[in-house]
Amino acid sequence: MHRLLEGYARFRRNVFPQWKAHFHLLADSQQPDVLFITCADSRVVPDLILQTEPGDMFLCRAVGNIVPPHGAMPGGISSTIEYAVEVLHVRHIIVCGHSDCGAIRAVLPPDPPDSPNPDPRDHRNLAARLPLTAQWLGYVEPAWKYLPPGVSPADTRTFHTALVRANVIAQLENLKTHPEVARALAHNALQVHGWYYDILTGAIDAYDQQDRRFLPLEDWAAANAQPQAPNA
Ligand SMILES: [Zn+2]
Repeated sequence: MHRLLEGYARFRRNVFPQWKAHFHLLADSQQPDVLFITCADSRVVPDLILQTEPGDMFLCRAVGNIVPPHGAMPGGISSTIEYAVEVLHVRHIIVCGHSDCGAIRAVLPPDPPDSPNPDPRDHRNLAARLPLTAQWLGYVEPAWKYLPPGVSPADTRTFHTALVRANVIAQLENLKTHPEVARALAHNALQVHGWYYDILTGAIDAYDQQDRRFLPLEDWAAANAQPQAPNA
C-alpha cells in the first residue's frame, strides 16, 4: 500500500501537471476507438504495451479474458461490451490473451502424481477450493475445439500456449454472439480482433480470422493494411 501512496503523490506532484490539458479535454467526455478485453493478470499492462494514453481505450478485464456468450451470464463483461458498442461506438474490439495465464493453466490436466517437476501452481480440486472461479472457467471449454492438431499435452509449455491462443479464438466467437456486436459487424461499423501477448518477449501475435492462424502483429497489419486516404 505504501508504494501506491508514494506513486499517487508522485502522480499529483509531477505527472498530473504535465497531463492537465489532456485531462481537461477528457473531463466531461470520452471517445475511445477501441474496447480492449484482457485478463486481470498484473503483468499485462495495455497502456504500456501499446503506448496508449488516457482516453484511447475502453478497458475490460476478467480472469482468462473470458467473454461469456450472450445470455449466459449477464453482468459486467456483457454490459461493458454493450456500452462500448452502443454508446461509445468503438470501431475495434480486441480480445487479448497472454503467456503463462494462470486461468488457462487451471483447466489443463493436472500433472501426474509421479511427475518429476510438478507445477507448484497446479490448481487441483478447483471446484472445491474456488467454486466461482471453476464456474467462470467453464467458459474456456469451447477453446479445446480450436486447439491445433498435433499439440501434445506432454509438452506442457507449448500445450499451455496453444490453449491460451485457442481460448482467444473461443472468446472471439462468444463475443460475436452479443447482438450489438453482431449488428455492428454486419454494418461494417466494427472489427473484432484476437491477440496473444508474450510476457517474456513483449511480442504480440494477432489471429488471422481468414487463414485461421496467429501471425506477428506487424505481419498481420501489413496483410490487412487499409488504403490510407490522401493527406491522412
Ligand atoms: Zn491470465
